[in-house]
Amino acid sequence: MTQPTKDALPITVRNVTKTYGPVHALDDVSIDVHSGEFLTLLGPSGSGKTTLLMVLAGFTRPDCGSLKFGDTEVIRPPPHLRDLGMTFQSYALFPHMTVAGNVGYPLRLRKRPKAEIADRVARALDTVQLGGFGDRRIDQLSGGQRQRVAVARAIVFEPRILLMDEPLSALDKKLRDQMQIELRHLHEQLGMTTVYVTHDQREALTMSDRIAVVNHGRIMQLATPRDLYERPANRFVADFIGESTFLDVTRQGDGLAWNGMPLNLGHPVPEAPGLQLMIRPERIVMRDAPGEGFNIFDATATDVVYQGDSYLLHARLKDGTQIALRGPMRGGDALPQAGQPVTLGLAPEDTVVIDASDV
Ligand code: ADP
Ligand code: MG
Repeated sequence: MTQPTKDALPITVRNVTKTYGPVHALDDVSIDVHSGEFLTLLGPSGSGKTTLLMVLAGFTRPDCGSLKFGDTEVIRPPPHLRDLGMTFQSYALFPHMTVAGNVGYPLRLRKRPKAEIADRVARALDTVQLGGFGDRRIDQLSGGQRQRVAVARAIVFEPRILLMDEPLSALDKKLRDQMQIELRHLHEQLGMTTVYVTHDQREALTMSDRIAVVNHGRIMQLATPRDLYERPANRFVADFIGESTFLDVTRQGDGLAWNGMPLNLGHPVPEAPGLQLMIRPERIVMRDAPGEGFNIFDATATDVVYQGDSYLLHARLKDGTQIALRGPMRGGDALPQAGQPVTLGLAPEDTVVIDASDV
């Protein structure tokens, strides 16, 4: 199973809506998942991630909209005719079956010959590093091993599309970090188009080629991890990914001002009714002489935390806004005390202006 045996398939979702009574679980969703891509649906609990995955898989029929795998319309065919593997939010393994019994299940469903099943199950277990575990019972496995069995079952028939619903959320942090890397490697190795669901922004940033941020059944932004973090399209995305301080800004001539202070932006002002300047804690610096062109904010330190590799400073701007700043810690660096004045600098290229009208 080291070479992809089939070409990956792109997925085209167009105007898909699914309601449950008054709830719009999916509200006019359109997405293009590129062939071979690792795309993550990221959003808070109840935002519609599982519903979208269930629509892709064929377990949920949308009210309207269309869905294609490659050139084929697939809104009608049942799950087992869609050439996709899936892991569910609960592992959904059969506890009374062995590991091999679980992994071979999709092949028995597809009525493959016994010898082929044995061969493919062995290869799938090798791929998830569970070679030799075929005869174990599910209840003899750790959480991480069960998760790998679920993945092996999803890839055993070498589907062209792999769907995974919060596969790591039940694992402790260390194992989760390790499995993130393993799943990423598995994707590189098998090359199947993958739609992955998580509510954990760091996991999404770590694993994905692109991320679709979902809220209230709508796609708020679909972009690369870096673009999402550095150029969020709206306040929801800016809030959901990373930490930030938001300053209300007003138009002044062609530019923007904060409390009457003109801002040096280094880029044109976006067209939107309500604008805010978003400041990430690691992008604003504390220096006596921040450098030419920097936007300077005079502030008072309110809380200073030493964190070993870095420090975290909370400060109050002159209008009372609290701002957070994170900086690297070098030997011999002095940190300010709470109550002391500090000068904060923001480079023009680190200014991010967002549309705050749709909070
Ligand atoms: P997520 O996976 O992002 O947590 P879901 O897709 O499970 O969100 O749910 C989206 C919304 O649809 C929620 O408000 C949820 O309560 C509702 N919902 C999902 N499935 C059903 C269902 N079978 N019946 C009624 N409401 C549902
Ligand atoms: Mg869910």
